[in-house]
Amino acid sequence: MHYKELEVLNLRTDPPMKTNLYLFEYKGKVNLIDAWFSDNSEVVDVIQEKFWRLDNLFITHWHFDHIAWIDVLMERFPNLNCHIHENAFDFLINSDYSLSWYFNADFRVSDEHIKNIHKFKDSEIMDWIRSIYTPGHTIGCSSFLIEEHGICFTWDVLFENTYWRTDLPTWDPGLIKESLSRLGNLNPETIIYPWHWKSSLLKDIDISWFIFD
Ligand SMILES: [Zn+2]
Repeated sequence: MHYKELEVLNLRTDPPMKTNLYLFEYKGKVNLIDAWFSDNSEVVDVIQEKFWRLDNLFITHWHFDHIAWIDVLMERFPNLNCHIHENAFDFLINSDYSLSWYFNADFRVSDEHIKNIHKFKDSEIMDWIRSIYTPGHTIGCSSFLIEEHGICFTWDVLFENTYWRTDLPTWDPGLIKESLSRLGNLNPETIIYPWHWKSSLLKDIDISWFIFD
């Protein structure tokens, strides 16, 4: 089956790590996946200029390079809805788990904004976008699926031909296996959008070597 294309803008801002930053409008809502790490204030301007607003910020997990700009975005876009899985929420204010001490920093969401963050459950649908709980890299990881367009943002869980680091606090190899197996059951024509490196079709990714070892 062929999906109808949805325009997904990649405001990639961090060439050394080839980090992606995806922005897209879906059914009249403007959505961003994760609040990146580094000085990217110009990206906020791009969102402002192109759409004049930001409706949803979907957070995949609590590592610093995914949450560092939550406060900035919530300040700049006062009507923004920020979403994170219920198992990840507590770690938003824990710099040990966010790994921000790597940079001698202490990224945490401010008291003012933390109370407005929405905690979602597995398979919850937010503005027509479905969460898929995919723990393993951390116990708080989620992917986001737009079924109508065959698009899944898998972030730090599934990459071109691998999965991401499994040496960080709360990682779990058994959960990675279950999560990859779950993602592997999506339609093979689904486009997988990862946090690092390039997107690819699910059917072109071989995850069987890990799931069935
Ligand atoms: Zn991570």
